[in-house]
Amino acid sequence: MASESNGVSKLKIPEVKFTKLFINGHFVDSVSGKTFGTRDPRTGDVVAEVAEGDKEDVDIAVKAAREAFDHGKWPRMSGFDRGRVILKFADLIEQHGEEIAMLDSIDSGKLVHLTKDFDIQFATNCLRYYAGAADKIHGETLKCTGEFQAYTLKEPVGVVGHIIPWNFPTVLFAAKAAPTLATGCTMIFKPAEQSPLSALYLAHLAKEAGIPDGVINVITGYGPTAGAAISSHMDVDAVSFTGSTEVGKLVMGAAAASNLKTVSLELGGKSPLVIFNDVDINMAVQTAWQATKISVQGEVCIAGSRIYVQEGIYDEFLKRVTDNVKNWVVGDPFDPQVHQGPQVDKEQFDKVLRYIESGKREGATLLTGGKAIGEKGYYIEPTIFTDVKEDMLIAQDEIFGPVMSIMKFKTIEEAIEKANNTKYGLAAGILTNDLNTANRVSRSIRAGGIWINCYLITESSIPFGGYKMSGFGMDSGLQALEKYLKVKSVITPIYNSPW
Ligand code: NAD
Repeated sequence: MASESNGVSKLKIPEVKFTKLFINGHFVDSVSGKTFGTRDPRTGDVVAEVAEGDKEDVDIAVKAAREAFDHGKWPRMSGFDRGRVILKFADLIEQHGEEIAMLDSIDSGKLVHLTKDFDIQFATNCLRYYAGAADKIHGETLKCTGEFQAYTLKEPVGVVGHIIPWNFPTVLFAAKAAPTLATGCTMIFKPAEQSPLSALYLAHLAKEAGIPDGVINVITGYGPTAGAAISSHMDVDAVSFTGSTEVGKLVMGAAAASNLKTVSLELGGKSPLVIFNDVDINMAVQTAWQATKISVQGEVCIAGSRIYVQEGIYDEFLKRVTDNVKNWVVGDPFDPQVHQGPQVDKEQFDKVLRYIESGKREGATLLTGGKAIGEKGYYIEPTIFTDVKEDMLIAQDEIFGPVMSIMKFKTIEEAIEKANNTKYGLAAGILTNDLNTANRVSRSIRAGGIWINCYLITESSIPFGGYKMSGFGMDSGLQALEKYLKVKSVITPIYNSPW
């Protein structure tokens, strides 16, 4: 059974050095002078007071980003030179990785060994990947009819607004900043109000690396104020949003109602993992456990939160899946003995518990877990439901918590139909030893990423994005560069002017 590690770790939490807005290369107070508290999910206590940016601050930041784009050296440097600065930025993040990882853990409740070993490494790899791409951005020469020739130029789109959530603060900062920097754009970041600390630290390192003032600006604050000011700003050329589908619609609406800025959306998911009879049962159970990402409290957009198991191994699967829970420790994310930390905040904690209650009410069988742990902080037991029906809320909605829903299927056709029975289309997993089954199912599921006999493997070189209401536009891969580029066609006669 899940248990709680005692108390709060004695590990020294780093001093919070940066709490002001970062505009045009300087840390400044918000125009209103207001601040908000960022909270420790282990206790709910305020860790630091951070500047609360609003529309006026966004206006100032956009002006700085505009100036840096229209007249500054960043967009005019060679891609090779930009790449060298981005590499320096990556080195500095690596050097300060432990401190940044701790800021993300104290803000989000994620296990510190994961923020250190995965998030920081992903961020530095990502910056290095796009540093290498910065001098390989080019157009094409086109074949024309008659006496003309044409070529395309790929030009930076301009000022980009990045609005990001709290579950992967450093990873998402890097995933957005790296291709934006490589293309020569300038940007405004709005980190989530739950996790503002690492973005400010990263902005400071960007300056130290030699990224010119105005290229990266960070406005901490709330979504309906600072976030909305970015998505509706007349002088922001593109907005790249990661977050919920609900807010993604607002961002797109604001872009349409203002200046028709380019929009890309990385939104929610309810991804299926389909397990066929022919796989090794231990591998199936381990992959399902990994896929649900209970070690990150289930707060992962691509988590495999619907587990479909073929009837031949269903009973055995159920028998074994609870084994994982026996020695599972829920507690302080700074304690190396702990397997799962707290949910990010009270709102998410309450939301997850409401979904667990709805699962029980609608008739799913609670195999294990289902309760909050302790009096303080936002800890929830790893929870497994079986006998989940397709129309239950826990099968349809993104819970974003440590909850696994297990369903049975008979045939490959039924598996495909059920896997696609969702408004989302972010990812899916297939476990089978049959190549034909793997090929057929992977082509039939409408989702942006498919893992066969693995789950959650991600790298900067692999394009990542959604189908359906999981959004559009790619983060990662060379495709991410396209979000921050415009194509210009240039046409000219080959010999003499026709007129
Ligand atoms: P959220 O949509 O509530 O918030 C995301 C960001 O949007 C925050 O910075 C928030 O302040 C801002 N925001 C809120 N209202 C806004 C508004 N009116 N205008 C502009 N900005 C606004 O999401 P969340 O709860 O922070 O994060 C969880 C969600 O993010 C989940 O749905 C998850 O699936 C999704 N997510 C998706 C991906 C992906 O790559 N597809 C990655 C991580 C998280």
